[in-house]
Amino acid sequence: MRIVRTVTELRAALEPHRSGGIGFVPTMGALHEGHLSLLRAAAVENPTVVLSIFVNPTQFGEAADLDAYPRTEEADVELAASAGAHVVFAPSAAEMYPAGFATTISVGGAVTATLEGAVRGRSHFDGVATVVATLLLAVQPDRAYFGAKDAQQVVVVRRMVTDLRIPVAIVTCPTSREADGLARSSRNARLSAEERQLAAIVPRSLRAAQDAFASGIRDAHRLTALVREGLAEAGLDDEYVEIVDADTLDPLTDVTRPALLALAVRVGTVRLIDNVVLDPAVDDRTAVERSGA
Ligand code: AMP
Repeated sequence: MRIVRTVTELRAALEPHRSGGIGFVPTMGALHEGHLSLLRAAAVENPTVVLSIFVNPTQFGEAADLDAYPRTEEADVELAASAGAHVVFAPSAAEMYPAGFATTISVGGAVTATLEGAVRGRSHFDGVATVVATLLLAVQPDRAYFGAKDAQQVVVVRRMVTDLRIPVAIVTCPTSREADGLARSSRNARLSAEERQLAAIVPRSLRAAQDAFASGIRDAHRLTALVREGLAEAGLDDEYVEIVDADTLDPLTDVTRPALLALAVRVGTVRLIDNVVLDPAVDDRTAVERSGA
């Protein structure tokens, strides 16, 4: 496996492998089982797999969050190799944003205005879209793999790839969860033992709403209220709990088509996000359990 730091090196490393098919997994590092599940999916479908590790400063609102973001490159490289990566692209900020860099990709409309966009501001998704576009153009993969945990990010990336006709297939992989259902996240490492226990209420609350949905409740307000109550009982304040159309992210009052139940909550100083799909055509009650396996 090769580690490359510049786009020039990356392109040279990939040149001999273009015809076989390239799979790409963009990450901010501090790899966990969720990232590895993306790498494994990429390795099944592509003879060459590229992982990028770049903590993108432009998508962080709070300097403290950026500073506290875990950086574990040495361990990441070993894990990436074991999960099937052939090339790790780990550029510096100066390589990604050289002097004079002045371009922003800004995806407009509801997909960036709601949920994370409403709380973190549009600049968050400007940062995401710009870095993902830059990475896609650097790697030029056949397929790029994203996690359903960041469901809004996938919708935004799909919108951008469609609008700009970037020739890549976007593949969404299921959320990887701990045994108690907590979605794996690099930020979980910053939870104290007590906060980690408390965080289990997040998937439990989502599960309660899934159960209510499966029993026939379609009223979005009732379903989100259930989640909020679960969080509040544990003393957790949500930043948002919302039900939106799974494709357009428009708010729904009744879940009569595939929807996303998405939330953000702070546990101590750590901000967690999670979501589940509510699909009237599919009983998805076991999703949290299944992916925890
Ligand atoms: P990050 O390093 O947090 O930017 O995440 C890199 C990629 O891994 C994104 O596509 C995430 O959605 C995905 N990812 C992060 N956590 C998980 C998880 N628990 N399950 C599946 N994918 C994940």
